[in-house]
Amino acid sequence: MHSSEIRKKFLEFFKTRGHSVIPSASLVPSETDPTALFTTAGMHPLVPYLLGEKHPGGKRVANIQKCVRTGDIDEVGDARHLTFFEMMGNWSFGDYFKKEAIEWSWEFLTDKKWLGLDKNKLAVSIFAGDSDSPFDEEAFDLWKKLGMPEYRIAKLPKKNNWWGPAGQTGPCGPDTEMFYWMGGADKIPDSFNDDNDLWAEIWNDVFMQYNKGEDGKYYPLKQKNVDTGIGLERMAMIMQGKDNVYETDLFEPIINQLRDSVSKSNSETESLSKSMRIIADHIKASVFIIADEVAPSNVGRGYILRRLIRRAVRYGKTLGIKDEFLKEVAEPIFEIYKEFYPELPEKMGMILNAISEEEKKFNKTLEKGLKEFESVSQEGSISGKDAFILFSTYGFPLEMTVELAKEKNIGVDTKGFGKEFEEHQKISRTASAGMFKGGLADAGEKTTRYHTATHLLHKALKIVLGENVNQKGSNITSERLRFDFSWPEKMTKEQIEKVEEIVNGKIKENLPVSWTEMNLDEARKSGAIGLFGHKYEDKVKVYNIGRDDKSFSMEICMGPHAVSTGNLGRFKIVKEEAVSAGTRRIKAILE
Ligand code: ATP
Ligand code: MG
Repeated sequence: MHSSEIRKKFLEFFKTRGHSVIPSASLVPSETDPTALFTTAGMHPLVPYLLGEKHPGGKRVANIQKCVRTGDIDEVGDARHLTFFEMMGNWSFGDYFKKEAIEWSWEFLTDKKWLGLDKNKLAVSIFAGDSDSPFDEEAFDLWKKLGMPEYRIAKLPKKNNWWGPAGQTGPCGPDTEMFYWMGGADKIPDSFNDDNDLWAEIWNDVFMQYNKGEDGKYYPLKQKNVDTGIGLERMAMIMQGKDNVYETDLFEPIINQLRDSVSKSNSETESLSKSMRIIADHIKASVFIIADEVAPSNVGRGYILRRLIRRAVRYGKTLGIKDEFLKEVAEPIFEIYKEFYPELPEKMGMILNAISEEEKKFNKTLEKGLKEFESVSQEGSISGKDAFILFSTYGFPLEMTVELAKEKNIGVDTKGFGKEFEEHQKISRTASAGMFKGGLADAGEKTTRYHTATHLLHKALKIVLGENVNQKGSNITSERLRFDFSWPEKMTKEQIEKVEEIVNGKIKENLPVSWTEMNLDEARKSGAIGLFGHKYEDKVKVYNIGRDDKSFSMEICMGPHAVSTGNLGRFKIVKEEAVSAGTRRIKAILE
């Protein structure tokens, strides 16, 4: 079954069950969610509706959402993890719940009219229960009733079968995951445990039924939601009888082109090696990321994009490719997806140019950089300084140096790199400035300043009004910042002046701005403020504004930010108004 047939069937199935089909949102999440670089799951753009806001499509929606999971980058090249993939999902916003969700999942997977999968190759997991919340008996009974044998229903803890809350408090609940046996038909084990890699997760149904309160306890939720997701590539793999996603129609033309590119420089024909898989994945992800208006750079999303492209270039070298090749490998991607993502053909020229520019730029330094790496790695480990030189002079993303070092079984002083990076921020900024002119929206100098000013404002509000002031939203243009926060009444003139005074004071101190990547738990423990993300991507960036050990503001954010506060300009609040009960809005400018 062709992947377009799977798409069609999925949407038709849920349409006939009362769902409105909605388009995929951008890979770049909205400003109000600073915790994630990219859209990592179908539910991600729908969070406001899961929290109770009314969706224009009604209480049942379904779609196919493009996703990027940078957290899975090290697994790319295995049978079924990609950085870019599409997630087919159906949602209930306070409408149907477990019964319908589970019955429909089963029907769609196994009914001959739909996917018609062999029931004997399916297994599921459900939430086992713990001291916070009970065993998901309802899901268990539903699966049993549908004919799933008990030995194929694994009862697993929160770590495996639980979602949320998105913040420290809020909606959350158990999930049930569906798995498909990828081994031989004669080798299907009776019992199911999700440690066996031959059981591939294909679908996840999340049941938001609890609200985690301030006291850490779980209370029944008023609006119960369903949030599900199937990976299209994994389903294509199964429906096309392949054992990995790269042999499906969603990759085959890309891999074929790549084989051609390899054979130009290298007479040996390549089997589908891990390097080829990585290149195909990374270039596809890059095409979609650029289509959503991100340009390669040294910060935030642009940095991830740069890493993906440069990593592909490096793997090209390991395959013996001598010439430029990314553009020709990228071309088939437009063929595969043009029908479903019209932004791709529309922006084809711009996307291919951006990829090829980045490839050219990296090609200039890659070979010398690899020599440099060889020479510094003789010492048995890579110092922070050397890693930084590889970054600033040869354009090696830190993660690439770490990867090269791993191949040699040596370590990299990444902390030392961080220190060097901070000290040289000014230099690296100059290096990246002006790299991408024309056609692409890079974070402009001015917007960058407003991002940093927003952090100062957030902290100043907490100082003046109190710690329980929290960000509700933020929007930045190159002309002004807009910041929504929880506060019940109009701010007084004195309070506004005090906030301005604090922010301008910190600007005057010319405090350095730096960031560290950490997981959510560490971020929480370090006292960083900001919205906390969900289980889908747990690495976040924490931006620190302050000198030495004295931090003024620590906030989870993806940036990009100014290098230091000194050149922000004069901060001025031009408006303070209500947006809704309990939420105020500040508009401010930098003069
Ligand atoms: P896994 O344990 O296999 O990494 P997951 O638990 O991270 O999967 P979910 O977050 O539940 O997966 O996402 C829902 C569905 O999206 C999965 O069932 C799978 O079909 C698909 N999916 C998740 N991550 C990837 C990926 N990196 N590449 C391709 N498909 C994916
Ligand atoms: Mg995963």
